[in-house]
Amino acid sequence: MSETTVGEADCARWVADRLQEVGYATEYVESGMPGRGNVFARLAGSDPTRGALLVHVHLDVVPAQAEDWSVHPFSGAVRDGFVWGRGAVDMKDMAGMVLALARQFKRDGTVPPRDIVFAFLADEEAGGTWGSHWLVEHRPDLFEGVTEAVGEVGGFSLTVDRPDGTVRRLYLVETAEKGLSWMRLTCDATAGHGSFLHTDNAVTEIAAAVARIGAHKFPLVMTESVAQFLTALSEETGLDFSPETPDLETALFKIGNLARIIGATLRDTANPTMLSAGYKANVIPQQAEAVIDCRVLPGRQKEFEATIDELIGPNVTREWITHLDAYETTFDGDLVDAMNDAVVAHDADGRTVPYMLSGGTDAKAFAKLGIRCFGFAPLQLPPDLDFAALFHGVDERVPVESIVFGTRVLDHFLRHC
Ligand SMILES: [Zn+2]
Repeated sequence: MSETTVGEADCARWVADRLQEVGYATEYVESGMPGRGNVFARLAGSDPTRGALLVHVHLDVVPAQAEDWSVHPFSGAVRDGFVWGRGAVDMKDMAGMVLALARQFKRDGTVPPRDIVFAFLADEEAGGTWGSHWLVEHRPDLFEGVTEAVGEVGGFSLTVDRPDGTVRRLYLVETAEKGLSWMRLTCDATAGHGSFLHTDNAVTEIAAAVARIGAHKFPLVMTESVAQFLTALSEETGLDFSPETPDLETALFKIGNLARIIGATLRDTANPTMLSAGYKANVIPQQAEAVIDCRVLPGRQKEFEATIDELIGPNVTREWITHLDAYETTFDGDLVDAMNDAVVAHDADGRTVPYMLSGGTDAKAFAKLGIRCFGFAPLQLPPDLDFAALFHGVDERVPVESIVFGTRVLDHFLRHC
């Protein structure tokens, strides 16, 4: 199809039309703010006593500057075996696969083993305030009976070299996400003249606190998801990725650039990102502020906060500007078996492994409802493709063959979920 949509609402309505065209009853929901459109449709399964599966994608994308790109970022150009454009991997690829399969199922009269709720959402890229989080808070009825969910940033392949010279494709299923918390530090002290003796200086205090946080290295903590991933990686490669490995973060780069994500899930991080204080060179200001981007592992929030309190000292206060909890589920059960079966049916050498995402997705919102969330948007990728760099990157693109593979795997999975 060649229609063009502009903005979330337009795109959501287009999706709703495509679903209605084949017989779905859809619900279009604007989440408290005009233009932030979300679309829901439900496909009845054969066993209504089983919990429903939520299949969620987001329709928004991050901006792109056309002059930086090889093709227009909103052209959807197909060239050199790739689909190019903003959202190609984050996550119009999955949106396209899901929409195509939802339509096919309705046309075929396919009845999945359980109810499937298809959700096409707004605002994920800005934290889901006007998408998933708003819906969970104001329209929990849309998720009635949902026990499990699949969404983005998982299911893609990582090709690793085995000791016998062959390769193995690991399919990374997201089972956990670090928390995403932005913290504001404030120091209130005494204002004064810049030429006088002055011991109570807000700028000095905040700068020292920021420096201590920035230099602090949090302890290595093996969560279940990360431990299982590293064990599988060691088994396949014959290399040592145990927690005892010196400088494990650096050692991980033997698997390629994906180490940028995996390495960030070994410990909490707190990166200072903003500083502000003062308005004139000879005025000592009364207040100084800083913002710290904190990414905390599942189960670590209390210890993390205790460490931060020690680092900032008694004269600096802290508050959360944004606080989204980490979550983690186990890599087991029928749904995980169905993912593995679907992958192996289309890639006999494939192996699914759990992993933790260092960032955040809409899964954080659904986990609040007690839903078990997984990242499973299957793609078989060429071994040399720097997949992580494509997310929000210039020349974002996805191999056509990867989407064909992903659609087949997702088709198999949803028929057996
Ligand atoms: Zn995304």
